[in-house]
Amino acid sequence: MIHLKTPEEVETIARAGAIIGALFRAIPERVRAGATTAELDAFAEDFIRGHAGAVPAFKGLYNFPATLCISVNHEVVHGIPSARRKLAAGDVVSVDCGVKLDGFYADAAVTLPVGGVAPEAAQLLERTLQALHRGIAEVKPGARLGDVGAAIQEVADEAGYGIVRELVGHGVGREPHEEPQIPNWGKRGRGLKLVEGMVLAIEPMLNLGTAAVRTLPDRWTVVTADRRLSAHFEHTVAVTADGHRILTQ
Ligand code: MG
Ligand code: MG
Repeated sequence: MIHLKTPEEVETIARAGAIIGALFRAIPERVRAGATTAELDAFAEDFIRGHAGAVPAFKGLYNFPATLCISVNHEVVHGIPSARRKLAAGDVVSVDCGVKLDGFYADAAVTLPVGGVAPEAAQLLERTLQALHRGIAEVKPGARLGDVGAAIQEVADEAGYGIVRELVGHGVGREPHEEPQIPNWGKRGRGLKLVEGMVLAIEPMLNLGTAAVRTLPDRWTVVTADRRLSAHFEHTVAVTADGHRILTQ
């Protein structure tokens, strides 16, 4: 069942989302060669807990051990921060973060370059972010989930990227993952009709090569089957009376 949010509840999610937005403005300068993913995670946890009432939403969620999912290069999502994992120039680093505040969750992700990256890596980041915003642009009352998926898929197909099928976007609110599921592919005019009060985490995961992924023996880290690069961008978005509002700016 889909839980519609009142304007007050949307406002609470927006306050949680604003903390992620501020974190994502502070993180890029820390994503540099020699930094460990554990250092980024510690910074994020302190940053979030520095806001009254806010807690890292992922830490302990399904027993995940950290504040951030940090996924480097061919890692798609759910990478576990580690003091042994040092970033190197040319890496691309996906940072996924959830914040819980006053009983509500917000969820967002960004993929960042470490120094200068290869042109194909830079283009993957640019196009995946573009795919996210094309998907978000479809969100309004009366639109369909298929419109969102199709808009994302069009960007991916044009670039020749693989769209990860095993993982999708989702509703978000009192629970970190609510209905509906939001595929990053689809057909216009198909699927659930959007109505005011829905809050959706839209999150394309696009691969330079094959769409196929597998999960590492740590049972968390999802990687591309061909070990080529992957990118992930995510916003939490509310359906408003006349369109949408991004809650994780
Ligand atoms: Mg996320
Ligand atoms: Mg999500």
